[in-house]
Amino acid sequence: MTHHPKKHLGQHFLHDREVIAQLIAAIAPKPYEHLIEIGPGQGALTEALLPVVKAMDAIELDRDLILPLTAACKQLGKLTIHPMDVLKFDFSQLTTKEHSLRIVGNLPYQISTPLLFHLIQHISLIKDLHFMLQKEVVNRLAAPAGIKAYGRLSVMVQYHFTVEALFDVGPQAFYPPPAVNSAVVRLIPKIPSPIANNYQLFADIVREAFNHRRKTLHNCLRGFVTSEQLQSLGIDPNIRPERLAVAEFVRISNAITTQGAVE
Ligand code: SAM
Repeated sequence: MTHHPKKHLGQHFLHDREVIAQLIAAIAPKPYEHLIEIGPGQGALTEALLPVVKAMDAIELDRDLILPLTAACKQLGKLTIHPMDVLKFDFSQLTTKEHSLRIVGNLPYQISTPLLFHLIQHISLIKDLHFMLQKEVVNRLAAPAGIKAYGRLSVMVQYHFTVEALFDVGPQAFYPPPAVNSAVVRLIPKIPSPIANNYQLFADIVREAFNHRRKTLHNCLRGFVTSEQLQSLGIDPNIRPERLAVAEFVRISNAITTQGAVE
């Protein structure tokens, strides 16, 4: 039976054999590693991964795809499909073993940002992530401070992960072709340096800073920190938030934790 791709589920199925091979080579799966695929769809990646790892999990929201996928993968290994929204999926139900999960997927692009924030909550379980994303999002993930693509997503992801943009993929690699270019990214959890003493405060400061990215840092963070406090940290209060490196956001939040917030 032919499956009609569902736009609202971001269904752009990979059919370019070379791109699939490149992505599998980047993931470099090994037998018995704990692999989880997000959005396996019609199995373009699953069929290459499953025979290597022998057993894997997959999370797929579209129930119409589950039967054909199960049938296609039957002879290849043990595929456990979780028929649900990945944004509601609790990864801790799969393991308690630290840094054991290798999560991969050609993602539905509309959920990539919320998914990354969801995965940050499970970071202690993650070994690495390999995702096909909209190229513009990969640019944001990898962006250094000071350029336009640098924002809240860059800071929060770079705080937790080493980011490697691997290769670009054109629309023709997919059916139907998306309207945008794509790219593959590898994210590997790291120990943050420096560590935010109060993670929630750090996250709030980053959110507030980029809510008003055209204002000066001092104006954006009025509720959190004074100009004098910023200056005493060696940070110019008159720069725009996008000029601030991840470590500097952490230094601001740690200083507030120690010295107390402004009145
Ligand atoms: N992996 C397949 C491939 O490369 O050909 C399909 C990729 S397609 C871009 C995205 C897949 O994610 C689709 O199968 C879609 O049904 C599924 N999906 C969409 N939203 C989802 C969600 N919230 N949770 C889990 N899967 C989702």
